[in-house]
Amino acid sequence: MSPILHSVSCPVCDGDVPKRLGLAETSEKTRDLGIDGVHVVRCFRCGLFYADPMPAWTVADLAALYDHDYYPAMTAWWENIRARVNPVRRLGALQHYCGSSISRFLEVGCGPGYALKEALRRGWQAYGQDVSPVASSVGASLGIDVFIGPLEQGPYADSSFDAVYLDSVIEHLPTPVAFLRELWRLLKPGGCAYIVCPNADSLASVFMEFWARLRSSDRSARICPLRPPYHVVGFGPHAMRWAAERAGFAVVQILVDKDYQTRRFSQRLMASRPPGLRAGLKQAGWTVVYWLGERAGRGMNLEAILRKPNTGGRSCCTSDFSR
Ligand SMILES: [Zn+2]
Repeated sequence: MSPILHSVSCPVCDGDVPKRLGLAETSEKTRDLGIDGVHVVRCFRCGLFYADPMPAWTVADLAALYDHDYYPAMTAWWENIRARVNPVRRLGALQHYCGSSISRFLEVGCGPGYALKEALRRGWQAYGQDVSPVASSVGASLGIDVFIGPLEQGPYADSSFDAVYLDSVIEHLPTPVAFLRELWRLLKPGGCAYIVCPNADSLASVFMEFWARLRSSDRSARICPLRPPYHVVGFGPHAMRWAAERAGFAVVQILVDKDYQTRRFSQRLMASRPPGLRAGLKQAGWTVVYWLGERAGRGMNLEAILRKPNTGGRSCCTSDFSR
């Protein structure tokens, strides 16, 4: 594994006056590779958080990073949210905004294939893509085509799909606008993209950063580009809107706080007994932070529904992944 590190201007707005927040936290894998000195920065113009210099992984690196170990064990309650509740709600919203016309559906970064199963249940013609070889068995078990490799190398022609869906994907990509342009190319006019990612402007993220400063750490707690989950960019609602419109999409809706984070962490607290007083107080404190964030509209989850204009949209079919 040998990532190339290269300096970048803001991957969303090309701004070049970032605020430096601190060094990125490293993992055992990245320490073994001698990778350090990557900073987490925030763009003054669009609000995007990103890694600078930016690690660029090869296809083989990606397969190694997102192997079986990457997918965490989940409680039964959380598995139900990921596998059933969220796909039903989100694909229902896709159906609503696309009208009754969804025939061909693509899940990008399909992983365990939760949305693919819901798409099949709805009678849609479903396709999947992922860089992780874990997803190949998902395709076989569902009897559908899953392409393993980067999306831009996939076999899909222009205007192939009525709807595309991705959960926890765009924050891993060093060139998110080029990626969105690729989604634009794949969608039929009037088609919709449903994008789910962490909200980098969440109250919990602010507290994590504040906590790091209290400990006089030179590390930033944000996005974590050099340790799992390897997020190299972080979107809040403003940066997401900027990126979507730059790629030629019309923003239908941007939602936060629909992923039950407070209950998720409360469950973890209950499941970890006996946690000890110190660990219990820490978990309880974070649960309060998550709860406050959700009440303030600054929860951990961001969902964007974007539409490719029927007519009059500017051409965005050049997906330059070199930057
Ligand atoms: Zn920017």
